[in-house]
Amino acid sequence: MRINGHGHILPEPFQIPKFMKEKKLFWIDEDKRFMRQGDWSRPINSTGFFIKEKIEWMNQHNIDHGVMLCLSQLYCNGWEKQDCFDAIRFQNDFNASIQSEYPKKFTCGFVVQPLYMDQALKEISRCVNELGLKLLCLPTHFLNARGEWLSVAEVDLDPIFELANEYGLAVQIHPYDGEKMIALKNEYWRFHLVWMMAQCADTLHLFALRDLPNKYPNLRTSFAHGGMLGIANYGRRIQGFDGRPDIFKKLEDPRKTLGHKNLYFDTLVHDSHTLELLKKRVGVSQIIMGLDDPFPLGEIEGVGTSYPGRVLDYAREIGVLTEQEEKDIWHKNVLDWLGVKKEDFIS
Ligand SMILES: [Zn+2]
Repeated sequence: MRINGHGHILPEPFQIPKFMKEKKLFWIDEDKRFMRQGDWSRPINSTGFFIKEKIEWMNQHNIDHGVMLCLSQLYCNGWEKQDCFDAIRFQNDFNASIQSEYPKKFTCGFVVQPLYMDQALKEISRCVNELGLKLLCLPTHFLNARGEWLSVAEVDLDPIFELANEYGLAVQIHPYDGEKMIALKNEYWRFHLVWMMAQCADTLHLFALRDLPNKYPNLRTSFAHGGMLGIANYGRRIQGFDGRPDIFKKLEDPRKTLGHKNLYFDTLVHDSHTLELLKKRVGVSQIIMGLDDPFPLGEIEGVGTSYPGRVLDYAREIGVLTEQEEKDIWHKNVLDWLGVKKEDFIS
């Protein structure tokens, strides 16, 4: 059985409530050629954005099951309270409808916005108890009431992690909104190609320093895109921790959570050598399949030599992974992260 642990799915244009377009929060053109938000737009130009094509695409590539996260455009960073409430509810209801209509095919995540804590906590309970969702999607950073960008591993989010820990949820942390946090001109796709790597690393840095995997032992957290820079800069973080103890008082040594059994990383690193580093640092058991479909930065066909599973296939060819390790990344490890058994999808 092959399970993709990182994918996204769009609602049909008619499924998106009218207010979303009227307020320019998020909408899709009737002809399905663009998705839009405020003045931003992005072409919808590959297969697998919508449910029917997504299932066909999965069948084509022998993908039996897909984990669908929230849409990054709907993290709602900096939105008004009511807009945030309405949009998040829409997103979570939509994802729940996919999961309940196609339980064999999809496990879906739900999202909350940490700025409105009461709302976020109530939404977690609603999603778990009423919608049957068990995967919490969080952005790497959010905008607080003082207009500061904070990592979601900051103490401000402890109530969210406490409740998620009670429910024993899986968590996925994904970067977005880099162009709003970093004062560089938005060109060369730099916020996707460079800064997203740094955003994940920044939250992983705090996650380790605050010892969150041990503080909340029932949570299993996956970092998107292999945590990339957060894996490459491990040595530097150790050097800094040892070299400036004055900065890290009351914080934990990052060595303590390296390779922790509840910290996962997906395979979306685009090359087998980076994957090898990830394996050496955290161990194969902590790596899950992540295709990030249907986006052009995902491991999808039609972009260079890419196709779903390419990095793993190549890693096996050059001896970085064994056949069994490749199988585990596609199956067992994803189930462990989600905290479910294969039978749970079928019943
Ligand atoms: Zn993604």
